[in-house]
Amino acid sequence: MISDLRANATHIRERVSAAAERADRDPAAVTIVAVSKTFPREDVDAAYEAGFRVFGENRVQEISEKYALPFPADLHIHMIGSLQTNKIGQLLPFMDVLETVDRLSLVEALQRQLERRDQQLNVMLEVNVAGESQKAGVSPEETSDLLRAVIAAPHLVPVGFMTMAPLGADEATLRYVFGGLRELRDRMQHELGVALPALSMGMSDDFEIAIEEGATHVRIGRALFGER
Ligand SMILES: *Cc1c(COP(=O)(O)O)cnc(C)c1O
Repeated sequence: MISDLRANATHIRERVSAAAERADRDPAAVTIVAVSKTFPREDVDAAYEAGFRVFGENRVQEISEKYALPFPADLHIHMIGSLQTNKIGQLLPFMDVLETVDRLSLVEALQRQLERRDQQLNVMLEVNVAGESQKAGVSPEETSDLLRAVIAAPHLVPVGFMTMAPLGADEATLRYVFGGLRELRDRMQHELGVALPALSMGMSDDFEIAIEEGATHVRIGRALFGER
């Protein structure tokens, strides 16, 4: 319901601001990615009305059906799901940021398709900080090599890192994962001399801790739109 969405939005913004202030950070430095996957276009429009401009989606088919082109120039879609190389072409017209670059073959396929279209794409590397075997993402040890490949791809613009914490993790684990991503980012910036301003981490249940640990993007679905 749209009235719920407005109330949820107000509550989330208050919690984002409070978390940022606890960490001596500017609340405006935290972007809420409204994770609208599985929710219909009306909910996206209601969230847009409520001031959200960045939307998180995870399925190419759903994106191409939900967002008729052209949509408002200030509506930005972040792809937060794993991407098969054969779907890249279908996704490129819609996507502002790909948050889930996790392997060299994807970097190579993206570069080829972007070059053909003479297009640039902002990307984040998805890092599996917790080392969960079933989770997507490059390992922290292999991040440097993958990042070098992105830097070497002229049509890819690396903007930062993304991670997901283990489901139901306790606070110590969350801080280890989110703080670990921040430290890895700091180290990579230093080693490779590249600016990586974005840290996409934190979801409905853990975004406040993520903000305290330096998140610039929190990906919030259920707390905004309701249960899926
Ligand atoms: C679904 C999803 C989210 C949002 O999760 P909620 O628990 O609904 O806030 C965030 N990030 C990724 C990668 C997701 O797939």
